[in-house]
Amino acid sequence: MEKVIIIRYAEIHLKGKNRGWFERVFAVNMERSLKGLKHEIRRHSGRYLVENFDENRTEEILDRLQKVFGIHSYSVALKVNADMDEIFSAAKSVCSEIGTFKIETHRADKTFKMNSMQISAEIGGRLLDVNKNLKVDVHNPDFIVNIDLRENGTALVFNKFYKGAGGMPVGTSGKGLLLISGGIDSPVAGHMIAKRGMSIDCIHFHSYPYTNMQAREKVIELTKVLSAYTCGTKLNIISVTHIQEEIHKNCNGDYMVTLLRRFMMRIAERIAEKCGAQCLITGESLAQVASQTVEGMTSSNSVIENLPVLRPLCGFDKDEIIERSRAIGSYEISIEPYEDCCTVFLPKHPVTRPKLSDILAEEAKLNVDKLVSEALDSLETVLL
Ligand code: ATP
Ligand code: MG
Repeated sequence: MEKVIIIRYAEIHLKGKNRGWFERVFAVNMERSLKGLKHEIRRHSGRYLVENFDENRTEEILDRLQKVFGIHSYSVALKVNADMDEIFSAAKSVCSEIGTFKIETHRADKTFKMNSMQISAEIGGRLLDVNKNLKVDVHNPDFIVNIDLRENGTALVFNKFYKGAGGMPVGTSGKGLLLISGGIDSPVAGHMIAKRGMSIDCIHFHSYPYTNMQAREKVIELTKVLSAYTCGTKLNIISVTHIQEEIHKNCNGDYMVTLLRRFMMRIAERIAEKCGAQCLITGESLAQVASQTVEGMTSSNSVIENLPVLRPLCGFDKDEIIERSRAIGSYEISIEPYEDCCTVFLPKHPVTRPKLSDILAEEAKLNVDKLVSEALDSLETVLL
């Protein structure tokens, strides 16, 4: 009896002509997620089977597959020959000790000597014979024993369907550049967009030495968490220290965050062009903090020349974001207390509803092109 994992995929089946391509990307993503662990992945009539793995590492394999977008559900099954004695012993092993059950048989192999009803009846009867604590209930059973007779003379026997990550395979919806800060929100925003099939690269701005090296390590750790879902991610790290110093020296301090945001967007767009990203993604949520107003968004959008800005968290409350952040495994890292560059030179009274004409007047005091190009010169990249 061999342990295997049955993978059922999510919305891919909706994609008509592109289906083959979606499936290939999906299979590559599963392969990447299981890299370093012995296994084989085979496609079997509309689903995949993970086979030939070390059974002691089943949990680790499931943990990794849990992060692959496109998986609708999965089951750990026993694979046996399509022989009633072997099917029975597999059914006995997946069956609970006590309770009500029913058998559901699916027979892809139409040449098998018994039909689905007969198989279910015989295996059910034999289970009742060996365990008096079991009872059949076909309407509302405590558990179901599934028997799946394949065309190749094997049968898969299992009792549970686990929910997969859902969504679309990463790489089937283009590529985006996530502005990642070290806070709670941006990794969640990246995760949401990756779930819809987008590949993600990240960009982080720091103001070393005002922000320290631990803050940088923290962002690398967060990007690592994200990259388990995105099948790898490139992190671009850029210094904006000189920009903040110039704003501090020349402009009304209340505009620090507003002006810095505009620089971040400009630089991010340039990096996006360089890495082939088709949109920017931020972790902004409407009205969460002073700078996250619709006027603030208008101000930062107005410096972007070509790309859309996705803000998937706009409609979420903080506690909803925290819940997601815990679920994806980024929360504990995000709450480590290191400073973000937005907290350096933070004004006492930041403008909340900046008027574009006032922003432009402040910005006119700076050599924007020069500051952007100096920032681009500071680029470092880390592959995760
Ligand atoms: P987060 O929890 O993601 O830090 P936040 O609630 O602290 O978000 P802000 O600090 O206002 O919000 O930042 C809003 C968004 O701007 C962030 O979600 C992120 O996308 C981007 N951002 C802020 N600071 C940085 C940074 N240092 N590097 C890259 N992006 C940043
Ligand atoms: Mg922040």
